[in-house]
Amino acid sequence: MTAYEQGARYGQGQALGVVRPASVKEVQAVVRWCSENGIRLVPQGANTGLVGSSTPDASGTQVVLSTSRLRGLCEVDVANRSVTVDAGVTLQELNDQLEPHGLWFPIDLGANPTVGGMVATNTGGTRLIRYGDVRHNLLALQAVLLSPAGELINMGRALRKDNTGPDLKQLFVGSSGAGAILTRATLEVHVRPTQSATALVVPTSDDAVLQLLQALEHDLGDYLSAFEGLSGNAMQAAIDHVPGLRNPLSPDPVPEFAVLIELETASNKAYTGVDLQESLNSFLQDQFEQTIENAVIGNGHELWKLRHSISEGARALGKPIAFDVSVPRSQIMAFRRAARELIEAEFPFLHVVDFGHIADGGVHLNVIWSSDSEQTYDEAVVTKLRDRIYAMVVQEFAGSFSAEHGVGPHNISYYQRYTPQTARQLARGLRQLVDPMQLCGTVSFGP
Ligand SMILES: Cc1cc2nc3c(=O)[nH]c(=O)nc-3n(C[C@H](O)[C@H](O)[C@H](O)COP(=O)(O)OP(=O)(O)OC[C@H]3O[C@@H](n4cnc5c(N)ncnc54)[C@H](O)[C@@H]3O)c2cc1C
Repeated sequence: MTAYEQGARYGQGQALGVVRPASVKEVQAVVRWCSENGIRLVPQGANTGLVGSSTPDASGTQVVLSTSRLRGLCEVDVANRSVTVDAGVTLQELNDQLEPHGLWFPIDLGANPTVGGMVATNTGGTRLIRYGDVRHNLLALQAVLLSPAGELINMGRALRKDNTGPDLKQLFVGSSGAGAILTRATLEVHVRPTQSATALVVPTSDDAVLQLLQALEHDLGDYLSAFEGLSGNAMQAAIDHVPGLRNPLSPDPVPEFAVLIELETASNKAYTGVDLQESLNSFLQDQFEQTIENAVIGNGHELWKLRHSISEGARALGKPIAFDVSVPRSQIMAFRRAARELIEAEFPFLHVVDFGHIADGGVHLNVIWSSDSEQTYDEAVVTKLRDRIYAMVVQEFAGSFSAEHGVGPHNISYYQRYTPQTARQLARGLRQLVDPMQLCGTVSFGP
């Protein structure tokens, strides 16, 4: 059972058992049995979550409900541009089904999660600026409630307009598995781009990063699909430790900070006359010496591989202490500076390997406790660092302590610290309605 008991980054426990239902009826049977016997259920999809919420605790009393066999349905409605899909279907499988229709589900990340896991964590990823997160693309949701009867509830339909009451399905988006087993979702899907252009650019200064982003939005905003920040340390870690990567700006050295820009369009060049590669080239030429000092254009595959290899590269340096935070994007470079200064002053033995979704204000502030550090790894120091960074994010920058990975045992204490009591009470009251015995999920969202 080891694979079900160990999380991708955090969470290691012992399960009473693992159940792998293959149908909604089987999910309901498991739920009823758990409800009758007061057994806590931990829903698990692809187990790629990063807050420890998909694995059981150490008590040996919790049952993992894996959705790995809940994948019988993936029904594409081409004309409605939607797909109804079982919760255990993975993002890759979903996109493989959509591809022949010229469609895709454009959540992009360096992992292959399930549909249920993506809804439960409201996955963001690198193209959020263009397509939104999972919440924005969710039309309908089916779930089995943790009531003694294990009721099945269908929330929403394959409709883009439906104002017939409160949008109940949103209660389960970002729920981190609390309250119900999600069994099926209807998603809005998009026309697959037919043209793209990618560049890695070196901004002239911190201020220039946001000026460049704004210029892009004004001049080429309809096509902008990614604007990702990569620190020099992050690029270097990936280049040094992931086979097949090189410095794209070579012979120039790896810069202190760079931005990966991607433009995409599904429109037909024959009608629009738009050549994205040419558009990006001339835009970047105009920006030279204003906001950028160096750039390499093209080879999107190589640039995205570099971006998606950062986590792997960082892991090779030592023990990562990861912060998935967001701030208003106007503050993102100021936050980055302040966080680095704090770490340099108070934790000089730690190494910052950060990157971020600049355009949506998201920062993956990965801090590495290097394996060859003279200071031995100490959980108390890590907790102090977490307290300092999260306080800075929430109190000084009006940001979020969990931008896109959700809430789990790993960060629930900060939910309790930073979410207002009235909001926590309301969340608990809503949970009471769908899971009266608090049997589903690893966090309670309570006061
Ligand atoms: C290398 C890497 C890169 C990543 N990059 C990003 C990124 O850029 N952006 C981002 O947002 N995330 C990222 N993630 C995090 C992760 O992939 C997402 O959180 C993902 O959506 C989790 O889906 P999963 O199927 O793996 O769910 P799991 O990890 O199995 O579960 C996650 C949570 O969802 C709950 N859950 C799962 N299925 C169900 C269900 N059917 N019903 C009820 N609850 C359920 C679980 O109980 C748990 O609380 C990354 C992860 C890795 C390993």
